[in-house]
Amino acid sequence: GEMATGVAHELNQPLNVIRMAINNIQRKVESDQADPDYLAAKLDKVEKQVERASAIIDHMRIFGRKPGVESQVLDPVKMVKGSLGLIGEQLRLSGIDIEIDTPETCRPIKGHQVQVEQVLLNLLSNARDVLRDIPGGDKRIKMSVHDSDNGIKICIEDNGGGIDPVDLPRLFEPFYTTKEVGQGTGLGLSISYGIITDMGGTIVAENFGDGARFTISVPAIVEECNA
Ligand code: ADP
Repeated sequence: GEMATGVAHELNQPLNVIRMAINNIQRKVESDQADPDYLAAKLDKVEKQVERASAIIDHMRIFGRKPGVESQVLDPVKMVKGSLGLIGEQLRLSGIDIEIDTPETCRPIKGHQVQVEQVLLNLLSNARDVLRDIPGGDKRIKMSVHDSDNGIKICIEDNGGGIDPVDLPRLFEPFYTTKEVGQGTGLGLSISYGIITDMGGTIVAENFGDGARFTISVPAIVEECNA
């Protein structure tokens, strides 16, 4: 319910901006004052707002899964390597060094592959976003997997300067974003939080070194798997 109200509110904002831009254009056209620069600027604004609305809707697709679909047995190491397979090239092209540290053997976890993939991609793209904004060449992301008595931990660290302490307590709230309009929806972390909590786990954000660290902890299931 909270999510639906939030989505309605968030979609209304770009729609209002679009309606206002259209009204302004109509008025200019009626009074024969709609020069090309004016129209181009307004259309650009409309396009940005459409992008924002589509980004919100894209995030919502994750909720389209059929309830009751059995969760699968997943290999955390494969999930981490798979997520880098999806976005690694893009990270390297942005000048980001990627380090991975995984154990040789690791117990599996239980979850929905698409969802876990979504969480890892959210965390990686957030790290990419902060690193992209900082000048200089030393940009790093480290992904690691740990299997211990407490279960499985997946850590994603970056050296992008970390999280403002003011933002830390609100990071996982739906629609909480510090990114510019059109850049962020504030849904990535809140959806990730929901997915990991559904798996019986936790996801924690903290500042670490000269960047941020996100730690996912999930229960391991008993059988052995090879990395
Ligand atoms: P969005 O990426 O659309 O803003 P998220 O829920 O994924 O939404 O993230 C919320 C906020 O958390 C971001 O706007 C950013 O301020 C902060 N954040 C997330 N990851 C990092 C990171 N690796 N380093 C610094 N800040 C981060």
